[in-house]
Amino acid sequence: MYFPDYFCGMRNFEDTWRHKGMRSKLVETLREKGISDENVLNAIEKVPRHFFMDTAFDDLAYQDRAFPIGEGQTISQPYTVAYQTQLLEIKAFDKVLEIGTGSGYQACILAEMGARVFTIERQKKLYDSFKTFFFKSNYPAIKSFYGDGYEGLPTYAPFDKVIVTAAAPYIPEKLLQQLKIGGYMVVPVGGREGQRMFRIVKKGDDHYENEVYDNFSFVPMLGGKK
Ligand code: SAH
Repeated sequence: MYFPDYFCGMRNFEDTWRHKGMRSKLVETLREKGISDENVLNAIEKVPRHFFMDTAFDDLAYQDRAFPIGEGQTISQPYTVAYQTQLLEIKAFDKVLEIGTGSGYQACILAEMGARVFTIERQKKLYDSFKTFFFKSNYPAIKSFYGDGYEGLPTYAPFDKVIVTAAAPYIPEKLLQQLKIGGYMVVPVGGREGQRMFRIVKKGDDHYENEVYDNFSFVPMLGGKK
């Protein structure tokens, strides 16, 4: 389906029983599609996805699909969020670096699971809008940054986990360096035609093991800031 990049600029911050019901159904759909990490499913059950989207999509927020969030970007499909998060094997207090804040939904899912989240966005408008988003104040464990994700956050490294939520044309070297030994990086690698999900396990300072998973379609990871 085609959506023009048009927004009424309003959000609905009421979480009704109807929304909760649709959210439970979404969780069942994700279970059927093979998501089995109960902590991931619990987080999706808790975080009101419609808060992160324009009111124009209020009724569609709990369908398992991506939606536009402005600036030509999208909030990832719930299945994709669940898939990447499951591969991360999040434990409470894990220090997680996220590349591509976007709407902030993925960051909130990670924080809901008890992770300490460092999230970077290269588009100022999206960075500003998440920074001032009231719902973020529920998660003091999220720190957001405006910058180029290819650089990571050397000041805060090393991280237990790294998640890239945009399509990386190659595995970003600096992000691997900022990973702890024993840590995981989950990243979709490939061009506009599609990507393969990689989970890279850091075995030693220069020793990595790549696991390759399913095909996905993300917006591209771009260099520099905007
Ligand atoms: N995790 C987001 C998904 C957003 S889509 C969510 O839950 O909504 C991917 C995001 O990555 C976009 O907002 C895009 O602007 C951002 N992005 C792309 N390249 C980047 C880079 N080099 N550094 C930081 N963010 C980047």
